[in-house]
Amino acid sequence: MTAAAPPSTVSETAGLVPAWLQWPAWPFRAPEPQSPRKSETDLMDLKKFYIGGAWVTPHSSREFPVLNPATEEQIGSIILGDETDVNTAVAAAKAAFDSFSRTSRDERIALLERLLEICNARREEMALALSAEMGAPISMARDAQADAGIGHLEGVLAALKSQQLRETLANGDILVREPIGVCGLITPWNWPVNQIALKVLPALATGCTCVLKPSEHTPMSAAVYAQMIHDAGYPAGVFNLIHGDGPTVGAGLSRHRDVDMMSFTGSTRAGVAVAKDSADTVKRVTLELGGKSPNLVFADADLEEKVTASVLECMYNTGQSCDAPTRMLVERSCYDQVLEIAKAAAAGQAVGNPAEEGGHIGPMFDRIQFDRVQSMIQTGIDEGATVLTGGPGRPEGLDKGWYVRPTVFADVTNDMAIAQQEIFGPVLVIIPFEDEEDAIRIANDTPYGLAAYLQTGDPERAERVAARLRAGAVHINGGGFNYGSPFGGYKQSGNGREGGMLGLEDYQEVKTLHFG
Ligand code: NAD
Repeated sequence: MTAAAPPSTVSETAGLVPAWLQWPAWPFRAPEPQSPRKSETDLMDLKKFYIGGAWVTPHSSREFPVLNPATEEQIGSIILGDETDVNTAVAAAKAAFDSFSRTSRDERIALLERLLEICNARREEMALALSAEMGAPISMARDAQADAGIGHLEGVLAALKSQQLRETLANGDILVREPIGVCGLITPWNWPVNQIALKVLPALATGCTCVLKPSEHTPMSAAVYAQMIHDAGYPAGVFNLIHGDGPTVGAGLSRHRDVDMMSFTGSTRAGVAVAKDSADTVKRVTLELGGKSPNLVFADADLEEKVTASVLECMYNTGQSCDAPTRMLVERSCYDQVLEIAKAAAAGQAVGNPAEEGGHIGPMFDRIQFDRVQSMIQTGIDEGATVLTGGPGRPEGLDKGWYVRPTVFADVTNDMAIAQQEIFGPVLVIIPFEDEEDAIRIANDTPYGLAAYLQTGDPERAERVAARLRAGAVHINGGGFNYGSPFGGYKQSGNGREGGMLGLEDYQEVKTLHFG
């Protein structure tokens, strides 16, 4: 890290932020000395990679700053790896595979249970890292972002304990499930720990070894995660962490002949690149990509409650969720009433400092995203949509930090750019529909198919419409995601499923034994 002045907010956040996260305490050491191993490898350093069971100095020396989105100040820096770093990490994972793939299910359960204990003990550390690096308000960083690391672990453990690893088919043949091999795991910045957990845990659970390349924008939570795996006592080389950009490290993993599977979460653009780069070596590729999820609101729903909750869900995590209900489709007969409710809900959504407790939303995660959201808001205005609340610029009183105004557009048509493109900010578009058939047509008129939402007081309609929505999940009347359920999309939202049993199966090969 280059020497620089401490961010001005440190004094405001002191008390919330532990010493290891406060400037200039980098490189930092985890505050809880509970590690079963005490050595120099316990030292976490953002400029190091975790390879072969130790924090090592990368071959590359290309630095990349880590910024706090609320202060716009640099809070750390990482090294972006090169081809040599990719080769070193893959070689470590390959070397570890033979013995780790032969561990028993009970051994792997014991390791995951130890990891669960550590995740619970370090939830606050994780939340603070997430909040600092991507601007998640601390209450939400703790209760949702960091909690996902624990919830998915419980889901994976339950699946692993009940999975049939060997079964007899009706014809007498035996089917066995085996780990697929070395996995390359690429994750985004918006739900950093959630995504890491959904990839690393099934790899570890099934006996695979892996190389994780987290988003270069959120390396702090990834470093805490790597340290927790180290402290859980995983054998050297089973889990490896390298930082880097997409075109070098991401593509390097995708093209590597010793990587057997790529699991990618991020934009559809980069997911397509991963699939193409993986094609020459015929890897398995699973993709969790973007979304523009419809939310069908029928006049028979409890409008006040469901529309308010829907708007807040769209704004949650500052709109930076792949499955956010960003396209609200509203039955014409209740359109005006819904606009009033939606306007009030969005106008009431507080925006503020992520270091403070509360239900407010924070800034966009970085400057590029801030500019993109501003430009999409302008696009909506230029396309002729009506700004119900919000609009361009920063919220009043927030002159520093990449904050945007919660914005609702009415009178949107589904062919507008703001209805078709993922904005990835706190921006909701509202489109009227005439009847059920019209609603289903508009809902499915998108290249994406990650999630869909449905608000209706008629249970039969809920089933009927849900069956026709082309999406990997349908949330009915506010039903939320439960850990252990599969998560993934139709169409250009990806392929494969993460979480629970289906998440394990993506990391397994199936072998058939034919006995003579
Ligand atoms: P991004 O695609 O820019 O980056 C995601 C990751 O891919 C990063 O680690 C990045 O370094 C890497 N990457 C970029 N180009 C690459 C390439 N050519 N080859 C290999 N790796 C490459 O996405 P982002 O901005 O970090 O995240 C936001 C996107 O992620 C949104 O589109 C969002 O919808 C999507 N997302 C999807 C899910 C899901 O489960 N479906 C979950 C979270 C986020």
